[in-house]
Amino acid sequence: MSRAAMSEDEAAQQAAVSRDAWTQPGPQTVVAGVHRIPLPLPMDGLRAVNVYVIEDGDGLVLIDGGWAIDVSRELLERSLATLGHDLRDIRRILVTHVHRDHYTQAVAIRRAVGAQVALGVGEQDSMRELMTGRSGMLASQPARLRRLGAGSIADELAAVPVDLADTLAYYEDPDVWLEPGRVELDTFALDAVHTPGHTRGHLVFHAADRGLLFAGDHVLPHITPSIGFEPDRPPFPLRDYLASLERVLALPDAMLLPAHGPSGGSTHARAHELIAHHEQRLTDTLAALVSGAGLAPEVARILRWTRRGRSFTELGLFDQMLAVLETAAHLDVLVLRGDAARDDASGTVTYAALA
Ligand SMILES: [Zn+2]
Repeated sequence: MSRAAMSEDEAAQQAAVSRDAWTQPGPQTVVAGVHRIPLPLPMDGLRAVNVYVIEDGDGLVLIDGGWAIDVSRELLERSLATLGHDLRDIRRILVTHVHRDHYTQAVAIRRAVGAQVALGVGEQDSMRELMTGRSGMLASQPARLRRLGAGSIADELAAVPVDLADTLAYYEDPDVWLEPGRVELDTFALDAVHTPGHTRGHLVFHAADRGLLFAGDHVLPHITPSIGFEPDRPPFPLRDYLASLERVLALPDAMLLPAHGPSGGSTHARAHELIAHHEQRLTDTLAALVSGAGLAPEVARILRWTRRGRSFTELGLFDQMLAVLETAAHLDVLVLRGDAARDDASGTVTYAALA
């Protein structure tokens, strides 16, 4: 290996290390009285999930709860202890959305210490489906994949045994279905802002007087959030998501406090980047249609995936599913914009570029 290649390798390694620095266990103080606690996940694709602790009077308010697994609970308790607190100090948990890495541990904490759990009212239908205990987040995906011409992915998914019992055991209604608007804490004012797209009921919490945005999975610093991966998927999740990024731009610029990745940086700067990413993606998607692709999985095979620009066939099964659904979301926005036509008369959805 040449010297240059080695140093490139080392640089890449160092970049990966500093990229993961935010997952380092233990609380990190964001501003006085607000702490970020990264908690582990059972699979490492997202590395960790941040729970934010707000010291509010003589109690604590959490933004998101983490994934209900033992190692997460233990680390949360240890992290609270270094702040001079324990689980019983948690009064409320405001959960940004219904995904299990955010919601399930909130319920576990409620069962342990009686904390109040709040979730956006827009997640009600997804919660209803999850509480049936049948199919989790994948409820509607196989049928959708088949309609999009990706039946083989649906078949492969159906053949993968998944035991959802552990996760679904934590799906029960929150104490409060949160409407967008003011959330009064003892010493803190938060505004719950509806930001559909990642999920239809996603909320971000804006602390205007402190210049903070608890962004959940709506605005992430390193990756682009998945769109519409939920049991009750709306018809145009990407249109909703782009509108929700504009909603962030309509708020004053604030410090980004994401659920995955380091805190800090400008919410406006990152929202602009995410919008630019999707505009480029829409351009590439249209170009794929122009080149003759007509089905969402065909377009997905032409596009490049992940930060590393992988091909579709290099992706794992789960990511292939997400890729097809995300491609369809982009195609549907092209249809809304009048750049493409959609035809599902045959039972399979096909797309074509409009001149
Ligand atoms: Zn999520």
